[in-house]
Amino acid sequence: MVINLSEQHSLVSNWISELRDVNIQQDRMRFRANLERIAEIAAYEISKVLPFEEKEVETPLGTATAKLLKEQPVLATILRAGLPMHNGLLNYFDKADNAFIAAYRKHEKDGSFTISLEYMSCPDIDDRVLIISDPMLATGASLVKTIHFLKEEGNPKEIHIVTAIACSIGIEYVKREEPAVTIWCGDIDEELTAKSYIVPGLGDAGDLAYGVKTQS
Ligand code: URA
Repeated sequence: MVINLSEQHSLVSNWISELRDVNIQQDRMRFRANLERIAEIAAYEISKVLPFEEKEVETPLGTATAKLLKEQPVLATILRAGLPMHNGLLNYFDKADNAFIAAYRKHEKDGSFTISLEYMSCPDIDDRVLIISDPMLATGASLVKTIHFLKEEGNPKEIHIVTAIACSIGIEYVKREEPAVTIWCGDIDEELTAKSYIVPGLGDAGDLAYGVKTQS
């Protein structure tokens, strides 16, 4: 299932527009804040499909029946570009456990690349709700590889992907490889460059959030 958060008019479209705009995206603090805000909205929307339970809460004046999130999810992200969206999810799911994965594109001389996963810090994910953030779902290769990597640690009962911009080519790939996954995205673009950047997209999300790196 794919949920495009820009389908209905909301502030998400404003924030996506600022992420894309070459005249605004150079403001790194604003770029990170916009990713964080989109992830916060996604967290709120995801919370609506998670199980809740009722509990009595003592107030100074009596007893109220509260509805509380039944189980804490595991929030996973891919370093480094995923960090602002991870923060946004964690702002709302503030008692969640967290997983971090280092993935990068290992480029060959002919322009092709493979996804290399080198580090993971992961809590128990067996039978839990797993929410993975990555701002750009381009080919889907790194996300699918990350899901496989995480599944070696346990079998989550539900997987949600939170992304700012998803390319329809990557969405189809994720749907084919991991049909049970739900994708929550800020917007959907149709094209990829030969180097697998999303068009029109926004450029390199990691560089815009944290500065240009020396490796390509
Ligand atoms: N990663 C990015 O940062 N941008 C893209 O367009 C694709 C992958």
